[in-house]
Amino acid sequence: MEKIELKQITKKYGKVAAVDNMDLSIKEGEFLTLLGPSGCGKTTTLRMIAGLEEPTHGVLSSDGKVLFSKETGVYVPPEQRHLGFMFQSYALWPHMTVRKNISLGLETRKIGKDEINTKVKNVLEKVQLSGYDGRYPSELSGGQQQRVALARMIAAESSIFLMDEPLSNLDAMLRVDMRFELKRLHKELNATSVYVTHDQVEALTLSDRIIVMNEGKIMQSAPPEELYLKPANLFVAKFVGSPRINLIEGNIISENGNEYFKNRDVLIPLNTLPSDTDLRDKNIIAGIRSEDIGIKKSDSGEYRIYSVLPAGSETIINVIKGDTHITVKVSGFTALAMDNMVDLDFYKNKISFYSKETENLIC
Ligand code: ATP
Repeated sequence: MEKIELKQITKKYGKVAAVDNMDLSIKEGEFLTLLGPSGCGKTTTLRMIAGLEEPTHGVLSSDGKVLFSKETGVYVPPEQRHLGFMFQSYALWPHMTVRKNISLGLETRKIGKDEINTKVKNVLEKVQLSGYDGRYPSELSGGQQQRVALARMIAAESSIFLMDEPLSNLDAMLRVDMRFELKRLHKELNATSVYVTHDQVEALTLSDRIIVMNEGKIMQSAPPEELYLKPANLFVAKFVGSPRINLIEGNIISENGNEYFKNRDVLIPLNTLPSDTDLRDKNIIAGIRSEDIGIKKSDSGEYRIYSVLPAGSETIINVIKGDTHITVKVSGFTALAMDNMVDLDFYKNKISFYSKETENLIC
């Protein structure tokens, strides 16, 4: 049985559909991320699952039980949906200690004092904040406050966790630490988790499955690896991956039995294409990730290095030929410098082709 199911869920604000006829099934124990640019409808989707927002249309259920149905008038309020929440702002009460912040939700459930103390102790251990129970939020770092918020969510013992950009207020270093914690916790608790972010790295690192959204619609639903290696359309290809995938417009030609992708500036040798994909004579777009291109210095090279960005573990190099810019990623540092002439080696098996017309993946 699906843990959470959305059927034809639409949410309109005035005439604008923030979420547009969405079908989505989330499996028990799955870590699912809603990823997309600002305003694409991620938060609205999460808030409808939480019961904080009422859909304009559709049916929402959990464990087979209907939580919301426009048609039959069912609406189960948030407090009866047994959910754990974690939001961008930690939303800790500043005048309450860590212990009180965590136990507040438990006290309303009429659990005995000893049991509450044990639970608070256990969850603080889980988030590595044992001994911090007497502190106030102002006496904690941002990362620690976020871990208290995490502890509070865990303490509620819900089988569903809803998280809306919970790490976006943290600095880059802490964010990585917290990703480790979240991933570890997910393995231990196995709660069905719905996570909202516009950060593709966060989505790739944490999720079992990612839903990429744009303008209220699902653009692709796939595990991280598939999403990265086989983006279903140009929107996903551009949104996932850093640096951005190279997208080069051109067409496929055959010459002396060999296939090439060609435009005014570049000529890229290809593997023989599957015979059932009739790509010849059409304007198409080749998608090539920056790490799928080899680069080497050559005085007779056809490409000129336009700019070089060393970043420690990797260097991003932008080359140009005619009007075509291509980005290449190499690991570590490089001796290559601006205005060097270079040859590129495009890894044939890693090139994807997209229709210019529909923007969908062809092969
Ligand atoms: P962000 O990453 O910026 O939070 P998001 O993907 O979570 O964006 P939503 O907050 O779900 O996007 O908003 C989707 C669309 O609905 C946006 O165009 C937004 O302006 C609109 N919207 C959201 N809430 C309301 C509201 N209460 N009233 C009117 N329009 C709203």
